[in-house]
Amino acid sequence: LASATATDQANPVDVLRRVFGYDSFRGTQQEIIGHVVSGGDALVLMPTGGGKSLCYQIPALVRPGVGVVVSPLIALMQDQVDALEELGVRAGFLNSTQDHAQRRSTEQAFLAGELDVLYLAPERLKLDTTLDLLDRGEVSVFAIDEAHCVAQWGHDFRPDYLELSVLHRRYPDVPRIALTATATPATREEIAERLQLTEARHFVADFDRPNIQYRIAPKNDPRKQLLKLLQDEHPGDAGIVYRLSRAEVERTAEFLSSNGINALPYHAGLDKPTRAEHQSRFLREDGVVMVATIAFGMGIDKPDVRFVAHLDLPKSIEGYYQETGRAGRDGLPSTAWMAYGLQDVMQQRKMIDNSDGDEAHRRMLGRHLDSMLALCETVECRRSRLLAYFGQDAAQPCGNCDTCLTPPESWDGTVAAQKLLSTIVRLKRERNQKFGAGQIIDILRGKNTTKVEQFQHAELSVFGVGSDLGDNEWRGVIRQLLAQGLLAVEGDYGTLVLTDVSGEVLRREDPRQVWLRTEPKRTPQAKAK
Ligand code: ADP
Ligand code: ZN
Repeated sequence: LASATATDQANPVDVLRRVFGYDSFRGTQQEIIGHVVSGGDALVLMPTGGGKSLCYQIPALVRPGVGVVVSPLIALMQDQVDALEELGVRAGFLNSTQDHAQRRSTEQAFLAGELDVLYLAPERLKLDTTLDLLDRGEVSVFAIDEAHCVAQWGHDFRPDYLELSVLHRRYPDVPRIALTATATPATREEIAERLQLTEARHFVADFDRPNIQYRIAPKNDPRKQLLKLLQDEHPGDAGIVYRLSRAEVERTAEFLSSNGINALPYHAGLDKPTRAEHQSRFLREDGVVMVATIAFGMGIDKPDVRFVAHLDLPKSIEGYYQETGRAGRDGLPSTAWMAYGLQDVMQQRKMIDNSDGDEAHRRMLGRHLDSMLALCETVECRRSRLLAYFGQDAAQPCGNCDTCLTPPESWDGTVAAQKLLSTIVRLKRERNQKFGAGQIIDILRGKNTTKVEQFQHAELSVFGVGSDLGDNEWRGVIRQLLAQGLLAVEGDYGTLVLTDVSGEVLRREDPRQVWLRTEPKRTPQAKAK
């Protein structure tokens, strides 16, 4: 096997063909590589699967010296190094999983100019020993992978990334390339600022993933809804199912397994060997369904993931985009399906209320959630909304998302909203009480439950004024009012309270109109054990 060393008088296209075995560059790869090879800084925004790795691997091979790649994905470094070595590229890594001897031998190879690419965990750049090492060797390019980790208000912040500005100060002549698959225009600015990439050229790829069909369904029995999706549309396909909690991961994996699906759990609570085994079975076997928390997936390169299902609401659009982006990397039709309901909104709001960090941090989390909810409740093309979030205009509805395929109906929910909000007002004013969604709905529908009797809620003037709508429809009203900011939840019991703008709906004169999505009919249930 011919060794691909930096001393070869190579140009990028040669390296692409000879070392990586590809015929041509994709999208903006060639431009990016040309810019970095000639010494320029770059900020690259490219969706998952877009081909970011070559953007720094080829400059590392073409320029003299070692390409240093900073990556938070320590667990994947060995795989990345193995993959490069298989191509004849000399690669190594330095991270906390190594013993002293392993580290020493990598350091020596680096100093001797016997490496083309060196992967580095970000925390190592805090160490003087690492900086001394870099001082004594020759670095061809610094690549900062998963660069959004430097954004403090992003969804994936890693404090160690803040240290990376040292690279610019200490090695002003070494070109830097920062790469990420997920960044809004605001995050992009933050990355550029914090990494001192002020002179960098920005390369923003098309974020559209046309082969992914986006669908967001109301949640009633998520595991059975999922099973139906798998049985009807994805029998035998590989896919990822995301759940919020470890317990739900376990339960969902068991449920799928007992219904004949080849499903495995993955979360940070499983021991390391189990996680490694499940991950490698997912990668190597056909048709494995990985049920996981978001601990799973970063850096996973499996081209034929046919579906990604979210059974709980993601915390942000960035997370949603990144997770769904693991589907269909081979370009073939794939499904991004999500089930979402009132309980998700309640749960997420509660998590934000109870989160660490200051008020500003909580407000930021709230904004992330609001954007995610707006995507869930939109009656417009999901893809257009998604791309708009990343600052990209979609000219027309995509024709490959649920709202395009079956346009949702909307209805004037102003009166329903008034009934609901005034029930909350009356409970507060007349009884000094607050309740959660369940009790409010029982009052609106005029149900004589034990709890209604206990609190004598049948005596309220609003009792039964909402009997025209069913439970499910009322839950939909509440969910959408929460998403629109016309209603809020409070405390551990999820009591419903008004917001600053609720009053606009309750005004006697010219009340604010409230448009709501019609709740779709419940889908037929899957045959489950
Ligand atoms: P990213 O890091 O952006 O998620 P990768 O760098 O892992 O994406 O690339 C995704 C896949 O596309 C990989 O399997 C890679 O080998 C392949 N790939 C990248 N560039 C090209 C190219 N120019 N031609 C063919 N395949 C490519
Ligand atoms: Zn669409």
